Amino acid sequence: MAVTTPYSELEGVVRLKVRRDAVVRLEYVLRVDGEVVDETPEGEPVAVLHGRASGLPPGLESVLEGRGVGPFEARVPPELGAGERDPGLVLIASREDFPPGAVLEAGEEFYFEGEGGEVRPARIVAVEGDRVRVDANPALAGKVLEYTGIIHEVREATPEELEHGHAHGEGGVHH
Ligand code: ZN
Repeated sequence: MAVTTPYSELEGVVRLKVRRDAVVRLEYVLRVDGEVVDETPEGEPVAVLHGRASGLPPGLESVLEGRGVGPFEARVPPELGAGERDPGLVLIASREDFPPGAVLEAGEEFYFEGEGGEVRPARIVAVEGDRVRVDANPALAGKVLEYTGIIHEVREATPEELEHGHAHGEGGVHH
C-alpha cells in the first residue's frame, strides 16, 4: 500500500471538529417518546453549513458542535431544544374563525394571526361543538429530543459556500 497523504495532513482531516462554518455531512434520527419524528432518508446523508439556518431540527446543531467523524447519540432537554410549552399558546377559537370549508379535526394545521399581527402555525387539538381548541406551541415544545446518527464528514467550507450560506456538493444544495 502506498501512502499518498502526508500524515500531518491526514491528521488534520481526521481531527477536524464541527464548529461554525464547517460543512458537516451527516445522517440523523430524531425520536420523541421513542417514536421517530424526523430522519434523513436511509443512505442519503445531508450536508449542512454549521451555525447557519440549515433546516435542521431544534437542538441538533448544539449536539454536533465540537464532535468529529463517527456515530453520536444525545438527549436534548426542552430548554435546549424546541423550548418549554407555553400554556398561554393553547387557545379557544370558534368555528367562524376558520375559512369556509376548512376541515376542523384534531391534528389539522392552520396559520393564525396573533393579536400583534404575527403569523404562527397552530394545530387543532380538539373540537367541542362550536369551540375549537388550538395549540400554537411548536410541535416539539416541552419534549426531550433523542438524537442518534453518524457524522460522515467534517470539512472546511469553500468561499462560495460561505457566501451562499449553505453547503454544496454531495448532500448539499445543487444549483
Ligand atoms: Zn449555493
